[in-house]
Amino acid sequence: MDTPAEHRAAARRLLDALPDQLPRKEERIADAVARALWHSGLLAPGPLTSSNAFVAARDAFTCLAHHLDETTSGHGAGRLLLLVTADHEDFAPHPRPSRQEFRVRDAATSLLTFLQWHCESEPDHVLGVALRFHAEQTARAAVAVTPATADGAALLHLTLQPWEPGVAAVCGTQLDQRLAAGAGGQHGLTQCDGCFGVTPLDPAAVLTRAERQAWVVYLNQHEEGRT
Ligand SMILES: [Zn+2]
Repeated sequence: MDTPAEHRAAARRLLDALPDQLPRKEERIADAVARALWHSGLLAPGPLTSSNAFVAARDAFTCLAHHLDETTSGHGAGRLLLLVTADHEDFAPHPRPSRQEFRVRDAATSLLTFLQWHCESEPDHVLGVALRFHAEQTARAAVAVTPATADGAALLHLTLQPWEPGVAAVCGTQLDQRLAAGAGGQHGLTQCDGCFGVTPLDPAAVLTRAERQAWVVYLNQHEEGRT
């Protein structure tokens, strides 16, 4: 896993693999988390040791922070910490968490339980290491803005992640057609207003700082020719 997009995909796999209703007993929660980590590819198959529990939970926390970046304009780490702390200290986080954020919180708190059972390190320490990893990965992530076509291949959209069928364009369109040969109205392509406009910067459809930077650079490069 190298890019924030890959981390977010792993977070989604983890959330899908966790049961909707977690067991009541802590030991059972730890077992359910171990299975979900294994199913989502975050935990290597084999004996569960303190060190691979550490690595798996650290990576899972990191992925959850990247996942929250999507809705918090790159403040996923702070939001994750707030959700976990609010649950532990029993206060209401602001703004009120979405359903998805409650799922992320439940995943994070069950990861802390998993660590209590399977790791010699303090759970809070593992969470701290994960948030530092998240910050480092976000800072160095190279983000490319990629043109892709959709809507019968006549409308040119832009995506902030490696192009593949099914990813969303900056404007939110699902890209299910093909990668565009070139950018900017070539080959009879019409540019999508949502992707090529300035609007997505505010409010930000753009996610992490690196993604925002890549988007600004792309817009500046293609400033000419825009109306
Ligand atoms: Zn578009």
